[in-house]
Amino acid sequence: MSAPDQKGGAQNVNWGNFRDHLATADKEGRRQWIYARKPKGRFYNWRTYGSWLLLGILFIGPFIRIHGNPLLMLNIVERRFSILGKILWPQDMAIFAVALLLYFMSIIIFTTAFGRLWCGWACPQTLLLEMVFRKIEYLIEGSAAEQRVLAAAPWSKQKIARKVFKQVTFFGLSLLIANTLLSYVIGIDKLFQIISDDPRRHLVGLGFMVTFTVLFYLLFARFREQACTFICPYGRFQSAVIDDNSLVVAYDYKRGENRSPARRSQSWDLRLTEGFGDCVNCRACVSVCPTGIDIRNGTQMECVNCTACIDACDSIMDKIKRPRGLIRYASLNSIEKGERFKFTSRMAWYSVVLVALTSLLVFLIFTRSDVDATLLRAPGALFQRTPAGTIENLYTIKVVNKTSRDIPLELKLENIKGTLKLMGGAFTVPGEQLAQTSILIDLAPEDLKPGRTQLEIGIYANGKRVETVETVFIGPRTTGAN
Ligand code: SF4
Ligand code: SF4
Repeated sequence: MSAPDQKGGAQNVNWGNFRDHLATADKEGRRQWIYARKPKGRFYNWRTYGSWLLLGILFIGPFIRIHGNPLLMLNIVERRFSILGKILWPQDMAIFAVALLLYFMSIIIFTTAFGRLWCGWACPQTLLLEMVFRKIEYLIEGSAAEQRVLAAAPWSKQKIARKVFKQVTFFGLSLLIANTLLSYVIGIDKLFQIISDDPRRHLVGLGFMVTFTVLFYLLFARFREQACTFICPYGRFQSAVIDDNSLVVAYDYKRGENRSPARRSQSWDLRLTEGFGDCVNCRACVSVCPTGIDIRNGTQMECVNCTACIDACDSIMDKIKRPRGLIRYASLNSIEKGERFKFTSRMAWYSVVLVALTSLLVFLIFTRSDVDATLLRAPGALFQRTPAGTIENLYTIKVVNKTSRDIPLELKLENIKGTLKLMGGAFTVPGEQLAQTSILIDLAPEDLKPGRTQLEIGIYANGKRVETVETVFIGPRTTGAN
């Protein structure tokens, strides 16, 4: 007997027609609601503790500030971004681009080595659905079997009360999640403003709040696992990056096949000699699966690596006194050839790219200036000759302060002797703001080149040069005397 189709390739044996239909739809394409049994076991416990931590960070995150800046804020509309308390401006596009590349590279490497570990252990959709919404559902409607009975029962006062209570709770939670998402986009202060001010002044903000709430409600109350199967691109993308060495939730078909129910009269040795394996075909692994699949058919796109089937099967193995791990985290090669986890050359190459991108990102962040300046010549102005015989040019300087503190700035000519005068007096750029002022540069004609002279201007904060800008100085075509 050969292996189940772990990667979706051809199979030599008929493992059923599981690839021909969806577990969540009937032949006519109608939705088949999944009533997943509540998992129990060590993986479920670890995931529960992990979800407390991650969901805690998710909901507390908007309130955390570093040096007065949000921990994370991605205000695309106003083009204001804060990552780990560092304010990033549109001028920091290079950092964004490298960070984005790094993010995608990490996903590829992580998926190549560890399959869909992200989906089961860290994806907010899975954590909120399995660890919040589904747990509330068990509390209100009872176990999976009770939910099935309730769904089939005729409408009664008790059924209406339970269903309404559940949907109202789901809607309330969706509102909380929508507000959390909004606070990552516009910042918690703006969100409080929207909530506490006259609603007529925040129609757009309220519109987004309602839209997000309805979308989250539909996601967690209706679409559920279908969002992972049909909408999320990651599930589809995984088949392109995982290989026979990737660690995935897998059924050990060598140990499990042939399946047959256990019989009290049959000793385990006899069962093995008769060609049966450890799988007693109890379908406990299928009944807990939130996406309704049978992991014994091999790795499937729908599998979110939630580990519920590992716990379910381990509890069966405990009962029949067989070793745990018939379903476990394993690679196809480890099951087929008994190979240990291998760091393949593909992973090595991905890692080289990852290290290079990380180094570039660190370099860009550490060499990033606190200010970003643009120097423009005053439009239409050429040059002025002063009574003292020197040549003057007028400029406008615009400076973005990327920090949250006010920065007083000084400007100096770096490559030529002359005077540089700030027209508005002392120039201080308020934190997270853009400020501009006019500057007048006065040079002796003998220091100029005919027509255009290249200038370097240093921008100093607290006596330290933080930025250098270049510009041209326009002078007469003939220099020296007049
Ligand atoms: S839970 Fe384990 S023993 Fe039961 S059907 Fe699934 S793989 Fe077989
Ligand atoms: S097959 Fe197992 S790991 Fe995959 S989604 Fe179903 S229960 Fe979770």
